[in-house]
Amino acid sequence: MPSTMTSILDAITVSESEGRPIPDAATRETIGYAPVHTLADLDAAIAAARAAQPSWNALGHAERSRILNEIADDIEANAEELAQILSREQGKPLNGPNARFEVGACAVWTRNAADTVLEPEVVFEAGASRAEVHYDALGVVGAIGPWNWPMMITVWQMAPSLRMGNTVVVKPSEYTPLSVLALVEIWNRHLPEGVLTAISGDREVGAAIAGHPGFDKIMFTGSTATGRKIVESSANNLARLTLELGGNDAGIILPGTTVSNIAENLFWGVFLNAGQTCAALKRLYVHDSVYDEVVDTLAGMAQQMPMGNGLDENNLLGPLQNEKQFDIVKGLVDDARTRGARIVTGGEAAPELGPLFYRTTVVADIEDGTPLVDEEQFGPVIPVIRYSDVDDAVRRANASSQGLGASVWADDADAAAEVATRIQSGTVWINNHGAINPAVPFGGVKQSGYGQEFGAAGLKAVSNPKVISR
Ligand code: NAD
Repeated sequence: MPSTMTSILDAITVSESEGRPIPDAATRETIGYAPVHTLADLDAAIAAARAAQPSWNALGHAERSRILNEIADDIEANAEELAQILSREQGKPLNGPNARFEVGACAVWTRNAADTVLEPEVVFEAGASRAEVHYDALGVVGAIGPWNWPMMITVWQMAPSLRMGNTVVVKPSEYTPLSVLALVEIWNRHLPEGVLTAISGDREVGAAIAGHPGFDKIMFTGSTATGRKIVESSANNLARLTLELGGNDAGIILPGTTVSNIAENLFWGVFLNAGQTCAALKRLYVHDSVYDEVVDTLAGMAQQMPMGNGLDENNLLGPLQNEKQFDIVKGLVDDARTRGARIVTGGEAAPELGPLFYRTTVVADIEDGTPLVDEEQFGPVIPVIRYSDVDDAVRRANASSQGLGASVWADDADAAAEVATRIQSGTVWINNHGAINPAVPFGGVKQSGYGQEFGAAGLKAVSNPKVISR
């Protein structure tokens, strides 16, 4: 184990006999043993959160914001150790838009939750009559997260919740508990007892959270299939829900686009975190006039972009995080090949790098109706689909049950923005894909979920709107 990985990792791991081994995503060696929390631990965490909530709420916004900013400072002070744990467990490299970037984003989003102003809103005024909407704490929030951006997404869930006076119980993905436990370890240096507890449990614990009467709100980020189960469970506790679910984001490159201008943003819009990103570009519609150039450009970049162990400073792409995801990606590409699609580059595992590495893959001459196009691949693979009519490309982009993000690419940003108005998704980026900003609301439409995160919209989502009317 590298000498830099000492204190935080030691504090969050348990002995072999008490814990569950967590593999390094690249090498599959055990990093450490994560605690295995039970349903009784969950009950205790909820009881502690409930007991701590009134006094945490009573501290007021200014004091909670001060504490959150202090936490952001501490994240920055421990950034390198957090990034190393994240890189090993999740697989994303330290460099590039990866582990160090994710830890940096944790501090940025924490500060944003601390500093965003949310005053009561006057919604009606006539003579002596007046109605105001005040945003009160909800109570206890349950935060259930995925394995792809485990630290950053947990911050998205817990920072606004805590800022608004709620207490929080966090359940990380069973694939990436150490990253989240490490983060929570830093946060708990600054928070009163019971305000924030991490429960490192499996899917059964996740299901118990969703249906537990002790929660007032569930913030969930994960797959659409699990999101559906959470909606069903919420019939029991009527917990409020924010559901950030799967995506199958389309990108449309308009006729005559100068490919060299968009190449860098396009590549990372697709391959960020080896494609394991909710709002990554997952199916690319390219106009005839630039189709071959786009395919060749992406393939050339894919062949050159260094992939390998995340702790190597040179690498910018890592492995698939887990075997299940590796099998999904491999299966979709093998199926596309069988159906006659052209594998321009990649299309196979890279065992010399480690068991779960899959080469950066560009697939051309493929159509809608192929599972690689219609389903979320969540890996380093892009199907590139040819079109000749923009209206038809918009129709195909919209012919999906998902609607998280989308993008339109063109030399003329105004022309792209016009096309964007016709696309059904929570965000449409122009000449970019997946760029997020803590002040700009983020969320999906259709089966990509409901509710928005970030900024004032995100604070409202973890509040009870209360009307005071006179
Ligand atoms: P997943 O749904 O398998 O698991 C997510 C979490 O839910 C885990 O912590 C898991 O333990 C828990 N869980 C499992 N069963 C549960 C149940 N019945 N009730 C409550 N919780 C349960 O998702 P994943 O594989 O970890 O993540 C990948 C998916 O997440 C992809 O589809 C991706 O697009 C999506 N995602 C979406 C966003 C977004 O912002 N929209 C962000 C990241 C990932």
